[in-house]
Amino acid sequence: MNTVIEEMKEYALSYNVPIITDDGLSFLLDYIRKNHVKKILEVGAAIGYSAICMCGADPEVEVTTIERDEKRYLEAVKNIKKAKLEDRIDLIYHDALDVSLEEEYDLIFIDAAKAQNQRFFERFGNNLKDGGTIITDNMNFHGLVYVEETEIDSRNLRQLVRKVKTYKEFLEENTKYRTKFYDIGDGLAVSVKK
Ligand code: SAH
Ligand code: MG
Repeated sequence: MNTVIEEMKEYALSYNVPIITDDGLSFLLDYIRKNHVKKILEVGAAIGYSAICMCGADPEVEVTTIERDEKRYLEAVKNIKKAKLEDRIDLIYHDALDVSLEEEYDLIFIDAAKAQNQRFFERFGNNLKDGGTIITDNMNFHGLVYVEETEIDSRNLRQLVRKVKTYKEFLEENTKYRTKFYDIGDGLAVSVKK
């Protein structure tokens, strides 16, 4: 298990796959244990790193995770097999914005295209149990939310940073959830459904 995880970290580094940071991950795993989370939906599997690690938090954890990129999806299939977690991780190869799910989850981890955070939140909010939690990764957007907009050269990047900020406001104003922001890893938003 540990070698699979180490190999995935090396792969992520070599191929620039933005897996969760160590600090972000330990927060997530603690949260799962403390809140007795069992059923998890993840949006953005990449190579399966966070999904596999979340299964390590508790033997009863089950993860449904969605990935749209073929190369990463195939890599995730391999890794889940190596980790012998095929029966606990359900990997869906699709664009999450076209996926409809019936089941309810204790935790939803949003970690896909940052410009689409609000759409993922709204789409899957109905699949969250009352009292359940949505955790969103990369709220600091690699530190860029703290940089003056005029200092960001790329127009595309400026727009993405603005989207992350708008999403933050959306969470703050959403009265159905109580959201806290943590400056851990690349910034995490923890939104508990009231
Ligand atoms: N959660 C992973 C990292 C995910 S990186 C980990 O920490 O190990 C973000 C991933 O989301 C990328 O692989 C990207 O292809 C995927 N993604 C982005 N938008 C998506 C969408 N609309 N549907 C499905 N996957 C998406
Ligand atoms: Mg992330």
